[in-house]
Amino acid sequence: MTIADLPTDDKSEKPGTGPGVPSIILNRESEVRGYCRGWPTTFTTAKGSWITDTSGRKYLDFFAGAGSLNYGHNHPVLKEALLDYLSKDGITHGLDMATVAKKEFLETFEEKLLKPRGLDYKVQFPGPTGTNSVEAALKLARKATGREAIINFTNAFHGMTLGALSVTGNSMKRAGAGIPLVHATPMPYDNYFGGVTEDFQWFERVLDDSGSGLNRPAAVIVETVQGEGGVNVARYEWLRALADLCARRDILLIVDDVQMGCGRTGPFFSFEAAGIKPDIVTISKSISGYGLPMALTLFKPELDIWTPGEHNGTFRGNNPAFVTARLAIETFWADNAIELETARKGEKIAERFEALAQEIGGLQHRGRGMVQGLVFDEPELASAACEIAFNNGMLAETSGPSDEVVKLLPPLTLTDEELNLGLDILSDAARQVLR
Ligand SMILES: *Cc1c(COP(=O)(O)O)cnc(C)c1O
Repeated sequence: MTIADLPTDDKSEKPGTGPGVPSIILNRESEVRGYCRGWPTTFTTAKGSWITDTSGRKYLDFFAGAGSLNYGHNHPVLKEALLDYLSKDGITHGLDMATVAKKEFLETFEEKLLKPRGLDYKVQFPGPTGTNSVEAALKLARKATGREAIINFTNAFHGMTLGALSVTGNSMKRAGAGIPLVHATPMPYDNYFGGVTEDFQWFERVLDDSGSGLNRPAAVIVETVQGEGGVNVARYEWLRALADLCARRDILLIVDDVQMGCGRTGPFFSFEAAGIKPDIVTISKSISGYGLPMALTLFKPELDIWTPGEHNGTFRGNNPAFVTARLAIETFWADNAIELETARKGEKIAERFEALAQEIGGLQHRGRGMVQGLVFDEPELASAACEIAFNNGMLAETSGPSDEVVKLLPPLTLTDEELNLGLDILSDAARQVLR
């Protein structure tokens, strides 16, 4: 069967917008499904910055797998390496057995990413998802310090398993736990009070006050830019002050770089530009470069106090992902070209958004590098704009506590032409909903 004669089903949640969502998905897949509601069509192939549905309609993808496809869909260099590996019967599933694919990935990771940045991290393969990486980070921080409390930040997102959910802000997602989520204390993220309260005044005060009720924390977990939380950008000086406070108080600093890592904000690790060296780093989403499940938990060597098998998982050794991850690093991170391009394209988006906000009002803009948010004063207009954009051939999602932000996560590799086209579609959508 070729793609052309794949069965389509016109029973759409929104008739008239294309092939719709097949009835087996509407009826058999759980109500928990999400993205197929906002984008009610059936996708079949994808290449670069474009994803195609079964009617042959192409959509410009400014969502990029929620940031898992920083180098676009099915990058030819990575695909060739993957096909070659599979055709030679390379190991697919390997737990944490030693394999050639893992050896080569680690060598490349060390040579091309860690050494040039003066970083010395041990690498744990914690299971293939972002939340797996966060769970390993929290567990290790607690084991290393013998303390249980974790400090997180307002509007943080760290994943959906119980440990990661306990340090996540969103009340709807927290409610899904069904049990109390404990041992985490939220602190205000940068600019939470619009610059009125001095940075870390509250945090330092409760640390010092034996009557504050705050247990001495094992670790602080932070995102340098909060993606799910609404594209909230922490200033570099704020991150430095946080790292400094953690060092002074003997609290471990965990940077959750699951979404902002792998070049999303410019440098490979989003914290590089702040000049900080976190104790623990979580990496997932775009690390395989191909949309294959893969995650890493990185930590300073002195924290490597795990005993063998103390934390494990069946899918830690996703070897095809190691192959594409190695190729992605070799292809994109041998020099700083992609970092410079990301800064340039990010500025371009920022300029366009600032101009749009000037032109029509009702909007603000926030972002860093290639994560850029268009913030609507009236929250429901953000989803309305995304719907119009979808109907005009573009994927973009909303984020933020009230879904008030259109969050752009285009592939870092998109062309200027594609970038302009996407910005044109979104600008028109914003104009329509605000007029
Ligand atoms: C997506 C994300 C996670 C969770 O990753 P999953 O693969 O969905 O478990 C954790 N932290 C951040 C910052 C993320 O963006």
